[in-house]
Amino acid sequence: MEVITEINKMRTRVLTFKGSRKSIGFAPTMGALHDGHISLMRCARKENDEIVVSIYLNPKQFDNKDDFDNYPRRLKEDIEVIREENVDVVFAPSNDEMYPVGYCTNVRQDRITDALCGRVRPGHFNGVTTVVTKLFNIVGPDRAYFGQKDYQQSAIIKKLVADLNMDIDIKVCPTVREEGGLALSSRNRRLNIEERQSSLCIYSSLLKARDMFVSNIRDTKEIIEEMSSVIKKTKHVKIDYISIVNICTLEDLSSINEKALAAVAVWIGNTRLIDNTILE
Ligand code: AMP
Repeated sequence: MEVITEINKMRTRVLTFKGSRKSIGFAPTMGALHDGHISLMRCARKENDEIVVSIYLNPKQFDNKDDFDNYPRRLKEDIEVIREENVDVVFAPSNDEMYPVGYCTNVRQDRITDALCGRVRPGHFNGVTTVVTKLFNIVGPDRAYFGQKDYQQSAIIKKLVADLNMDIDIKVCPTVREEGGLALSSRNRRLNIEERQSSLCIYSSLLKARDMFVSNIRDTKEIIEEMSSVIKKTKHVKIDYISIVNICTLEDLSSINEKALAAVAVWIGNTRLIDNTILE
């Protein structure tokens, strides 16, 4: 496995893959890897000749300085974890490499970025679309792998490649959870024991939504109220949003026809966690 930190070297490596007609599977990450990230690498391994994983903590997508400062950084350990996964290249560029002095171009998407997390994290998704466009241009993947845990991000990336005519197949892999249902996240490392216990209410609220949907309740206000009461019963938790939205446009729904996304964001102490489930 090669670890590459420079864009030029990454491009040269990609040219050799393309020269030998190898397909490239790509999983972008911000590091502090867990089994959710690993699942993307394993999906990619099944469908491609060469696998590239990027580790880049993109400052442009943090709307909160504390969150960026406190985000776990574990590059050395991450590289060892990836080594076990039959990955071909780790791309871990520096900030100077990605955004050199004078950098002034951003990729902005409208509409889908205004929903859900976009309402409460101004600029976040423009940071994501900008860095993902750059990474796609550098790595030139045939397929790129994202997790359903960040559903809105994957919807935005699908729209990005469609709108900008990028010839990349976007694959969305299922959310990997701990035994109690908490979705794995690099931010979970910040939770203390009590907060970790409280965080289980997120999954319980999603299960509640699923139960109600299965019982033929289609009124989203009713479902959201029940989800909210599950979460409000729990200590240390503050609701950021609970929404039930169209699975493509992410617009709020008043009632569910066939399918919808139930999405939750909460603060547990100083940590913000998100999760979702598809109701169908
Ligand atoms: P991040 O490092 O948080 O930017 O995440 C990198 C990729 O891993 C994104 O596509 C995430 O959606 C995905 N991911 C993060 N957590 C999980 C999880 N628990 N299950 C599946 N994929 C995940």
